[in-house]
Amino acid sequence: MQITGFPCDPGPSAWNSLLPAAKPRAFLEADVTADWLVIGAGFAGLSAAKRLVELNPSDKIAVLEASRVAHGPAGRNSGFMIDVPHNLTTADYAGDAGNNEREIRLNRAGINFALAMGTEFSMDHETINASGKINGAITERGKAHNEAYARLLDSLSEPYEKLTASDMTQITGTHCYQDGLYTPGCVMIQPAKYIRALATGIESTKLNIYEQSPVVTLQQQQSTWKATTELGSVSAAKVVLCVNGHLQSFGYNHRQLMHVFTYASMTRALTRKEIKQLGGQDRWALTPADALGTTVRRISGTGGNRIIIRNRATFDASMKVTNKRINKVAKNHDRSFHYRFPMLGTVDMEYRWGGRLCLTRNNVSVFGEIEKNLFSACCQNGLGTAKGSVTGKLAAELACGIKTPLLDDQLADAKPQKLPLEPIASLAGNAILRWGEYRAGSEL
Ligand SMILES: Cc1cc2nc3c(=O)[nH]c(=O)nc-3n(C[C@H](O)[C@H](O)[C@H](O)COP(=O)(O)OP(=O)(O)OC[C@H]3O[C@@H](n4cnc5c(N)ncnc54)[C@H](O)[C@@H]3O)c2cc1C
Repeated sequence: MQITGFPCDPGPSAWNSLLPAAKPRAFLEADVTADWLVIGAGFAGLSAAKRLVELNPSDKIAVLEASRVAHGPAGRNSGFMIDVPHNLTTADYAGDAGNNEREIRLNRAGINFALAMGTEFSMDHETINASGKINGAITERGKAHNEAYARLLDSLSEPYEKLTASDMTQITGTHCYQDGLYTPGCVMIQPAKYIRALATGIESTKLNIYEQSPVVTLQQQQSTWKATTELGSVSAAKVVLCVNGHLQSFGYNHRQLMHVFTYASMTRALTRKEIKQLGGQDRWALTPADALGTTVRRISGTGGNRIIIRNRATFDASMKVTNKRINKVAKNHDRSFHYRFPMLGTVDMEYRWGGRLCLTRNNVSVFGEIEKNLFSACCQNGLGTAKGSVTGKLAAELACGIKTPLLDDQLADAKPQKLPLEPIASLAGNAILRWGEYRAGSEL
C-alpha cells in the first residue's frame, strides 16, 4: 500500500524547545531485516517496542519515525495521564457507564507501565510525577459538571476531593475558579522529556530507532512485511502500527476516524516579582470542568516558572492546519490567560503550537491484528499518554501470542462507528465543536 499522508506538526512545542537540543538519530538509508518493525515513535510505538524487548530480548527490533522523537503529538500534549473516565465526546467526560470500569483498568495499566519505565530509566519528578489533577469550574454549568462527575466517581467507588473557591485560589493564585474536583490517580509528565527518556532508555544494539524516516509504502511479501522509506527499507515478520490517526493514511478505517486539532501556548518564564503577584503553588495541573474549556498547567523546573494554556478544537479531515490557524487561536489563548491571571497583565506567550488528536464517534480505539502479522495500536481518543501506553504494550503482547485478562478488556472494544461523507462530517464536526465551545462560556 502507498501511504497517502504524512504528519504535519504546526509550531514548535514548548516542551521540546525548553530542553537542550537532542542529537538527531540516524535516518534509514539501507535495506535491513528485523524480527519486528514498529511504525511511529509516540506513546504507543515506544511502549510496544519496550514490551517487545521484554518479551523477546534477543530479537532485532526497528522503529521507524516520520519526524524526530518527541516532535509529534507525543511531545506536544499537555501531559495528563488520566486514569478515570475522560470521554471528550461528552461535555462532562462521563462517557459510557457500562465501560467505565474497564476503561479505568486499562488506563491504570498504561499509567503503571509508564511509571515502571520511569523508575527503570531513572526519570526525575519533572519528567513523570504521580501528583493528581483538578477539574476546575468557573461557571455554574461547570460546577454542575463537577457535581455530576463526583456522582459518577461515587458510583465507581473512586476517590476524589472537593475543593472550594478559596482552596482553588490557594493552589492556583487566581480567584476565578469557583470549585474544583481533585482526583489523585492522574500522573503528570513533561511530555517531550518523558518521550525522549523512553526512546533513549529502550535503544540498544538490538533496537534501532530511525528518525525522519517516514514509511512511504508497506507491503506484505509472502511471510514478511516490507516497509520502504525514501532511502531504505525494513523487512520484518511482524509489524506494529502505532501512527494514531495516520492509520487512515495507511489505507485503514476510512470514514471512521475523526481528526481533531487542539492548540496550546506557553508563557515566557515569570520573573520573581510576577511569581509573587501570582501566588499559589509552583506546580499544579487543571483540566476544565467542561470538556471544551481550557486546560491550564503551572510548571516550575527546566525553563523556569511558566503557565500553559490549551484550548480550542477544530475538525480537520486533512490532518493539516496552517500557521494562520495557530495565529487565530492565539487570540483565544491570550483572552483565556488574561481572564484567569489579570495580575500577569504584561506576561506574553513565548511558544504557540497545535497538534493532532484522533477520535472515534463511539470513543473506541483501533486495536488488534488488522491483517495477518500486522497489528494496530491506533486512535487514542485524545488521551494517548495513558491509552497509547497501554495499547502499545498490549499490541506487543497480542503479537507475541500472550493472553491476559487485560488484553481481553482491550479486545472487547467495539468497532468504530461510521462517519458521514465529506464534507458533511467536517461541517457537522466543526459545528458541534463551535456549539460546545459557545456553551462552555467562561470555562473556555
Ligand atoms: C495540544 C495537545 C494536548 C494534549 N493533551 C493531552 C493530555 O493532556 N493527555 C493525553 O493523554 N493526551 C493528550 N493529547 C493527545 C496525545 O498527544 C495523543 O493522544 C498521543 O500523542 C497519541 O499517542 P500515539 O503514540 O498513539 O500517537 P502519536 O503521539 O501521534 O505518535 C504517532 C507517531 O507516528 C508517526 N508517524 C505517522 N505516520 C508515519 C509514517 N508514515 N511513518 C513513520 N512514522 C509515522 C508520527 O510522526 C508520530 O510521531 C494532547 C494532544 C495535543 C495536540
